[in-house]
Amino acid sequence: MFQPPLDLAKARILVTNDDGINAPGLKVLERVARSFTSDVWVVAPETEQSGAGHSLTLSRPLRHRRLSRRRHAVNGSPTDCVLFAIKHVLGGRQPDLVLSGVNRGGNLGDDVTYSGTVAAAMEATLLGVPSIAFSQVLAPDQPVHWGTAERHAPDIIRLLTGIGWPVDVFMNVNFPNLPADGVTATRFVHQGRRQADNSLVGLTDPRGHRYYWIGAPVDGGMPREVDTDFHAIAEGAVAVTPLHVDLTHAGMLRKLRETFG
Ligand code: MN
Repeated sequence: MFQPPLDLAKARILVTNDDGINAPGLKVLERVARSFTSDVWVVAPETEQSGAGHSLTLSRPLRHRRLSRRRHAVNGSPTDCVLFAIKHVLGGRQPDLVLSGVNRGGNLGDDVTYSGTVAAAMEATLLGVPSIAFSQVLAPDQPVHWGTAERHAPDIIRLLTGIGWPVDVFMNVNFPNLPADGVTATRFVHQGRRQADNSLVGLTDPRGHRYYWIGAPVDGGMPREVDTDFHAIAEGAVAVTPLHVDLTHAGMLRKLRETFG
């Protein structure tokens, strides 16, 4: 565990995302980080990487574009960006905190394994830096309530870094699809489970060849199990879920050892 409370006024903060260097949510998170400290660095993907998960680019070279001293774009995944920032851009002084997002759209339940936003936070954790992923839940064809993330993220950051968390843990924060004043509470909740599968849409191109899109999840609405991220969001609350890198299922491991050990 890092030594809480983190002194945010003196902290070096790295900001990244999976929506790309020009995404509005990245600018929101940069402003949030700058409200604490002037030592804010941005290293983000050149292009949108939503759904990239915890992927590393291994089959082609990484190239980076220096936009200013503290602002860089990398033609890779969010994981590449965190690695590149910590191993290269920051020049030897590790960040004290990594903030990822604010993602355009929620990262709730099963989404966390697909999410580049969450994966960036996971990568920071693997490299020994405390990290928080932020996502703004939205509704299709409606304006995104970026103001909600911007207003509430500072309090969440203060709250979480004030108490600290173990070294293999990182935080997943989702803001509800409401105006900033409409947020009802902050809830500390489990990762839920979506009652849906991703859809696959097959179409035919002008030359008669089939092609496919992975579409939106087909579901009958948000799952409502109490005590989950989905439930908190449905109730208009900010959902905070501590995640950990170790995916081992303790109960099943015990059973395997009892049965076969
Ligand atoms: Mn995204």
